[in-house]
Amino acid sequence: MNTLRHNAILDYYVQNKLVDGPISKRVTSYFGENVFDLKKAKNFMSEEAFKSMEQSIRSHTKIDRKMADQIASALKNWAESRGVTHFTHWFQPLTGSTAEKHDSFFTLKLDGSAIEEFDGAALIQQEPDASSFPSGGLRATFEARGYTAWDPSSPPFIMEMRNGKTLCIPTIFVSYTGESLDAKTPLLRSRAAIDKAATDVCQYFDKNITSVSQTLGWEQEYFVIDEAIAGARPDLIMTGRTVFGHAPAKGQQLEDHYFGAIPERVYAFMRDFEEEAYKLGIPLRTRHNEVAPSQFECAPIFEEVNLAVDHNILLMDVMTRVAKNHKLVVLLHEKPFARINGSGKHNNWSMSTNTGVNLLAPGKTPKTNLMFLTFFVNTIKAVHDYADILRASIASAGNDHRLGAHEAPPAIISIFIGDYLTKILNEVEKRVGERFDEQDEAMLKLDIHKNIPELLLDNTDRNRTSPFAFTGNKFEFRAVGSSANCAVPMTVLNTIVADTLVKFKAQVDELIEKGEKKEIAIMQVLQKFVVESKDVLFEGDGYSSSWEKEALRRGLENVKDTPNALDALVTEKAIRLFGAHKIFTRNELGARHEILLENYIKKIQIESRIMGEMSGTFILPPAVRYQNTLIENIKGLQHLGMPEAAYNSQFQILAKISEHVNGINTNVKAMIEARKKANVIEDTRTKAIAYCEEVRSYFDKIRYHADKLELLVDDEYWKLPKYRELLFLR
Ligand code: ADP
Ligand code: MG
Repeated sequence: MNTLRHNAILDYYVQNKLVDGPISKRVTSYFGENVFDLKKAKNFMSEEAFKSMEQSIRSHTKIDRKMADQIASALKNWAESRGVTHFTHWFQPLTGSTAEKHDSFFTLKLDGSAIEEFDGAALIQQEPDASSFPSGGLRATFEARGYTAWDPSSPPFIMEMRNGKTLCIPTIFVSYTGESLDAKTPLLRSRAAIDKAATDVCQYFDKNITSVSQTLGWEQEYFVIDEAIAGARPDLIMTGRTVFGHAPAKGQQLEDHYFGAIPERVYAFMRDFEEEAYKLGIPLRTRHNEVAPSQFECAPIFEEVNLAVDHNILLMDVMTRVAKNHKLVVLLHEKPFARINGSGKHNNWSMSTNTGVNLLAPGKTPKTNLMFLTFFVNTIKAVHDYADILRASIASAGNDHRLGAHEAPPAIISIFIGDYLTKILNEVEKRVGERFDEQDEAMLKLDIHKNIPELLLDNTDRNRTSPFAFTGNKFEFRAVGSSANCAVPMTVLNTIVADTLVKFKAQVDELIEKGEKKEIAIMQVLQKFVVESKDVLFEGDGYSSSWEKEALRRGLENVKDTPNALDALVTEKAIRLFGAHKIFTRNELGARHEILLENYIKKIQIESRIMGEMSGTFILPPAVRYQNTLIENIKGLQHLGMPEAAYNSQFQILAKISEHVNGINTNVKAMIEARKKANVIEDTRTKAIAYCEEVRSYFDKIRYHADKLELLVDDEYWKLPKYRELLFLR
């Protein structure tokens, strides 16, 4: 046989595909060497310029124009000393990935002589002709161009490719009238909002707290597949997932992959991308196998949220590039394989004060306990009140395969807090209607700190089915998709917690003004919040169908697909929320909603097209060919005068194949009709719903027949690499 599939399998066995990973070095000897951090900046610029840059970074403000030239020249000198020739503003447009436009330091002077140049203006601002980035109509109505501006809180870095090095300057991307066109601008705005709200609340407990930042530690899941074998799957190449493929005889039922030994080729690849990551200052800490065959996970030490977001996006890019050197492909899609676990990206989130206190870590004294309880309960209340917006923040065509599919956190947003904290909240709640007196205050001293070991034990990984779990000293948002930009859910989480904290403070202050003691006032409001939000707490099995029923009874939403989930972004509630904290204007929300819907439509459209195309060119031909073989065989047996029993089975197989060929053909035709109908719909939301409910409804039907054929047709004829080859040859 000479199909792409067979060549790829041959290639796998014949070629030695093990590429050595890098030589082991102490990570500390090169960690961050490609990052222009303050330590390096100091060596390359004047004291004055350094102070100014340091100040901008600390206070999250723009670079002083007067110092920009000096900083730019220092940056250029450092970059050139490391062999860099080009620079780019690096930003995160709403396409879901990153964008770059490389410019050379090289330029010509007026007299025609050549020099290398990089000035303050080029550092601070660029105006990429970005008219082909999605803007949801924002730029069309205002200005054709957007601009990028350096965000000093994320340091410039050098991206090393095999054939050159580029200086990347992390920037925001906005329209001329200031509307955000990227994922980062709103994140920075939300960071400011929660900083202010949380700092204000901290004043009840500690006057030394003057700022609160958010911390994010993400856990990235991914698949690794042999490049040649993946290359023989047009669906993987075009959509990042397999739209056909029967489950392999052995999947994950033996549970032998999780924490098993990492295959050697993948191990070499990991070492390699880890080294690149370390150079970029990404503090990777753990690596291990995941549940599904060929599925892995890595996680860094947590960092300030903005930096952590950049590092995650950067790492996805580095992994994809480094995999190529190992003749491997990284799949970041949420569901590359049906009936095999999908991939997520847990977002571990907390808040941290300038005094070094983790606000979600139970305190060591009664006072800090109350502070912990305050931020803990406010987060729960925020998630309860804005579950719909949180759900919208993780909606994507890819993630729809996971949420509610009984393998990943369900589409119902609920919170797991563990037995011990449940007990505490129950205690708090029991006092409804009662006035808090000194005795109740004593109750609050509950000595949480003495129970920290118990608490950690109680909460670490106890319930993997919860989309939002308290894990001892942070919340873990587990419903985020593996390919997502963390900036989106983090923006929403920051904003809803900021909003809740503002309301909390207003209510506490009101009680204090009425003459209530501060601690009692705080407790009264916390009690009210616990009562109002306890419906969102769930400790049981999130995958179970009984939970779906229970959630329905509690009135919790269970929105299973993207077009419907996105509605939450444009409600009056959302417009008020995001407006109040200056995260998004009504216009910006509308634009984002539009872009996300369009993105959804395009994804399903591409999947639908590739399904149609592959049905005709990959699935049906081997089936028909095998039918011919059977027909020849039957004819031959008949010719020899054999009894009917001799070819009866062949007839049956022939008929089965015909049935599935017809099944594919009629459903593909119907799917194309549905697509045609959907394509002429003007309103984007209606169109997205049509793609979701009509076009997509044929996917499973077509696939059912195709996967049946895979089991019937001679393996020699079958053109698409099978799941066993994709998942086990590596
Ligand atoms: P595991 O889930 O493997 O048991 P952990 O739960 O300790 O490991 O950590 C998972 C992720 O959570 C890591 O990226 C870690 O850095 C991060 N993390 C730990 N503490 C915090 C925190 N205070 N804020 C944000 N992320 C945190
Ligand atoms: Mg964890």
